[in-house]
Amino acid sequence: SSTPSFPTFENTFATLGDAFSASVQAQPFKSSYLIAANEPLAEQLGIDPSLIRHDFFRQIFSGEKLADGSQSIAAVYSGHQFGVWAGQLGDGRALLLGDIKLHEPDSNSYSRYEIQLKGAGPTPFSRMGDGRAVLRSSLREYLCSEAMNALGIPSSRALSLIGSDQYAMREQPEKTAIVARAAPSFIRFGSFEHWYYNDEHEKLKQLADFCLEHYFSSCLVEENPYQAMLKNIVRLTAEMIAHWQAVGFMHGVMNTDNMSILGLTLDYGPFGFMDGYQPQQICNHSDTQGRYAFHMQPRIGQWNCHALAQAMLPLIGDVNAAQEALATYVPSFEQKHAQLMAAKFGFQRTQDGDLDLISDFLDIMAKGNSDYTNSFRALSNYKLAPVSLENEKLRDLFLDRESLDKWLERYKTRLITEQSNDEQREITMKRSNPKFVLRNYLAQQAIEAAENKDFSELERLYTVLLHPFDEQKELENYAALPPDWAQTISVSCSS
Ligand code: AMP
Ligand code: MG
Ligand code: MG
Repeated sequence: SSTPSFPTFENTFATLGDAFSASVQAQPFKSSYLIAANEPLAEQLGIDPSLIRHDFFRQIFSGEKLADGSQSIAAVYSGHQFGVWAGQLGDGRALLLGDIKLHEPDSNSYSRYEIQLKGAGPTPFSRMGDGRAVLRSSLREYLCSEAMNALGIPSSRALSLIGSDQYAMREQPEKTAIVARAAPSFIRFGSFEHWYYNDEHEKLKQLADFCLEHYFSSCLVEENPYQAMLKNIVRLTAEMIAHWQAVGFMHGVMNTDNMSILGLTLDYGPFGFMDGYQPQQICNHSDTQGRYAFHMQPRIGQWNCHALAQAMLPLIGDVNAAQEALATYVPSFEQKHAQLMAAKFGFQRTQDGDLDLISDFLDIMAKGNSDYTNSFRALSNYKLAPVSLENEKLRDLFLDRESLDKWLERYKTRLITEQSNDEQREITMKRSNPKFVLRNYLAQQAIEAAENKDFSELERLYTVLLHPFDEQKELENYAALPPDWAQTISVSCSS
């Protein structure tokens, strides 16, 4: 019989040269075990599915063995953390194994994925850290990467989750794990800032030229390719954040070192999905000022783009040209956000007054702390017929029924103007209003079981999240509101 196929790694990022990274060997765990693997992604990467349960897969994606062609490196970058210049950071616990050709290029038409191990030991950029990642945060990253992807939100992907019985010290000792994650590139805004603030403009240019060649080649024909690339990054960032706002996702640590130049949701830490709608919610316990509160995210995305533009200024050559690229942010965000929100409300064409109608619904939700996900899902079932069980279920989610009823009258009038049909609207709205998101309490249940080596809850939750828009009636409890015990879950930067 023939040997099952496994891809040969290339090292495209490493061609940038020594200054951009350090060679690092993984520090494998004394013993480790496969917790979960993403079979469709493995297949897309050309990994034979039969290898996944084979020890070879565990060895490669725990860093025990180096795959053919792979040169493991840690990349250098800097960044602004909580609005303050933080200097050099870099991959303190991520190792880039190289890149793999995609068999079926993904929807963004990228042809290769880089693979990183997160938590495989210290690097020259670990500073005070131990280079490890705890099982809790690794499991959250594994689930959320794929949940976001299934929701249609640009994100880094997760290939595998490997556990160990080794502990790392956090607020308390915690079990560790390694996630293998994948993305066309892990280059961050902070990768550019690094060279700008170190006054190394040659390196800055080299990095930009690398990005133009590999990710933004359509910009090469433009008069000012660097400006064109910035414009694209600004647009992609604005669109990503529009998606976050529409689905109720809070990233938690939007530092410039966590901002992907490809507009991918990156570096899952103290993230959260909105339960009760509180626009000022802060999901990161360490964010005492609320810089990264939910309603701040669009503005912070723009702030981060300004930081990137500043770093690219020597290449763009002209402040006005940089300003022009930055001017893309607000219209890109507004257009994407309006489009996503219109779909959530089942509007076929935009009309005057839609923005008021949308914001008034959100206000009523906020005043009564209505569940964000379930309210929109219930709205998808709204019937124009005056009395219906569905409409009663929607009303049940609201505290101020009187305000809701008044709002529903306006909504009804609005829907009738475009001959909206209950059946058709329900189908289309349910493609925009997920029933299942990765609520913190759901992740917590999977974590607690996994800490005791029971991975069945993780597996069930993973399966649910891969089909967030489906009814999955038998799994209804995964759409339930957080139980009382979940009020005390606290998610900080510690991971
Ligand atoms: P984050 O906020 O998780 O994106 O991390 C910010 C910086 O701290 C990055 O440079 C990380 O590589 C680094 N870092 C975070 N946790 C650790 C750790 N346990 N060991 C080494 N470096 C870490
Ligand atoms: Mg080096
Ligand atoms: Mg980070």
